Amino acid sequence: MQCMECAKSGMRREAVALCHCCSAGLCLEHAEVAPKRLERVAPLCKVEDLPVQARAVLCHVCRTALQQRHLPLSA
Ligand SMILES: [Zn+2]
Ligand SMILES: [Zn+2]
Repeated sequence: MQCMECAKSGMRREAVALCHCCSAGLCLEHAEVAPKRLERVAPLCKVEDLPVQARAVLCHVCRTALQQRHLPLSA
């Protein structure tokens, strides 16, 4: 698979990851790694963050879109 962002600018570069959100192929330069909060539901409907965060690979478009309203990165 080729990097979609590179392909748009006429280059061919091997993709090393997929965007978590839109599944676009991304090279190392275009893959943006965001921390992904993990939550567990505690009694009384409280949601707690777990101490260790996972990661989510996103393209620039999805990263920007997800940050605009402080949405949690949920699968
Ligand atoms: Zn690229
Ligand atoms: Zn994306």
